[in-house]
Amino acid sequence: MKIHEYQAAALFAQYGIPVSEGMPAFTPEEAEQAARSLGEGPYVIKAQIHSGGRGKAGGVKMAQTPADAAARARELLGMRLTTKQTGPQGKIVRRLLVVRAMRIERELYFSMTVDGASGQTVMIASAAGGMEIEQLAEQAPEKIFRAQIDPALGLMDYQTRNMAAKLGLTDEKEKQFMHLAAGAYRLFTEKDCSLVEINPLAVTAEGKLVAADAKVNFDDNALFRHADVASLRDVEEEDPRETEASRYDLNYVQLDGDIGCMVNGAGLAMATMDIIQAFGGKPANFLDVGGSATAEKVAGAFSLLLSGKNVKGIFINIFGGIMKCDVIAQGVVEAARKMAVNVPLVMRLEGTNAEAGRRLLHASGLNIVSADDMADGARKICALARIQNNGEEAHE
Ligand code: GDP
Ligand code: MN
Repeated sequence: MKIHEYQAAALFAQYGIPVSEGMPAFTPEEAEQAARSLGEGPYVIKAQIHSGGRGKAGGVKMAQTPADAAARARELLGMRLTTKQTGPQGKIVRRLLVVRAMRIERELYFSMTVDGASGQTVMIASAAGGMEIEQLAEQAPEKIFRAQIDPALGLMDYQTRNMAAKLGLTDEKEKQFMHLAAGAYRLFTEKDCSLVEINPLAVTAEGKLVAADAKVNFDDNALFRHADVASLRDVEEEDPRETEASRYDLNYVQLDGDIGCMVNGAGLAMATMDIIQAFGGKPANFLDVGGSATAEKVAGAFSLLLSGKNVKGIFINIFGGIMKCDVIAQGVVEAARKMAVNVPLVMRLEGTNAEAGRRLLHASGLNIVSADDMADGARKICALARIQNNGEEAHE
C-alpha cells in the first residue's frame, strides 16, 4: 500500500527523521491558511498524488506569500498530473502539501527496501540525489552505495558511518545521518514497510540534513496489524479495478495486454501469463481467485474481467484441489448469464470435480470453448483474441 507524502512526512517526524515544517491542504483557502501559520515564506506547494516525478511534471511550485500560495494551489488542485510513473492517463490532484521552503545546498538519495536476492533489508544511498534512482542505476551505478542489514543484528553503527563517509558527510552531518538512518530503520521494521525513500535528502545552507520528499510503501500482507497505517489509505489514488478486487479479496494486478485471465493460485497465474505470451498473446491482468473461492467470489472476478475496456478474450485456467471445478463453473455460468459476454471465453478445468464442471458448462448452452490442457487453452484464446482484434480493425 502507498500513502501520500504528507502522511509519510508525519511518520518521519514520529521516528525522528527531520522534515520541513508543513501542512496538508485540500482547498486554496486552506493552502493560504497553512502558509500563514507556517510563518515567513517562501513556501513550496506540492501536489499529493501516489507518484514520484511530480517536480518535472509541474506538480511542485514555489510561492512567496500566503496569497501566492493560494494562487498556486488554485492552479494545482483539480489538475491532471502526468508523470513517468502515472502512465498516460495521469492522476488528478486532490490534496496538497504546503511546506516552508528550505535553502538546499546538496541533494542526496537515501532509501531502505527489501533486497529480494538476499531476503534482507538493504540501505541504499547516493550523493547524486534529486534525480531518479532508476536512471542513476542505469547511467552511473557506481554512484549508488548499498549496505545489507542482517535481521538478527539490525542496522549497525559501522554500516551507517561507512555510508556517511561515502556520501562525504563528516562531523555534525555524520551525526545527523546516523540518527536519521537509525530512525528510518526503526520505521521500516516496526511498520512493516516495503520501501522508505527520501529523494532528495537535502543538506541545507544551515548545515542540516532534512527530508525534502517522503515516500513510504507498506507490505499489504502485514496491514492487519497496523490499523493506523491502513487508515491512511486513499482509494481515490488506486486503480478502481484493483480496489474492486480487494473488496472480493482477490489478488488482482492490472496489466496492459488484452487477454483477461482468471486463475486459482499465484504460481498457476504466473505460468498462465507466461504461456499466453508464448503463444503470442498479452495478458490484461494477473488475477488469482485463491485456493478456496466461492461462486460469489468467482462471479465478482468475472465481472471485473469483463469491465476491462481492452479485454478481447478471457482465459479461465483452474486446477481444482481444495477448490472444486464445479463451483468455479457454477460461478462463471451464473455471472455470464447476468452480464453481456461479447468476447470469446476459453475455460480449462482440471482436478477435483473437473468432469462435473465441464458438464455444467456444456449444459449452460453458453458459448464457452473448452480446453484439454493449459497449452491448448492458451493457443485457443490467443487465436480467438486475434480474430476479435482483426475484426475490429476491419470495421475502422
Ligand atoms: P518528486 O519530483 O515527485 O520526487 O517531488 P520532490 O518532493 O522530490 O520535489 C521535487 C524537487 O523540488 C526536489 O528535487 C527539490 O529540488 C525541489 N524542492 C522540494 N522541496 C524544496 C525546498 O524546500 N526548497 C527548494 N529550494 N527546493 C525544493
Ligand atoms: Mn522526490
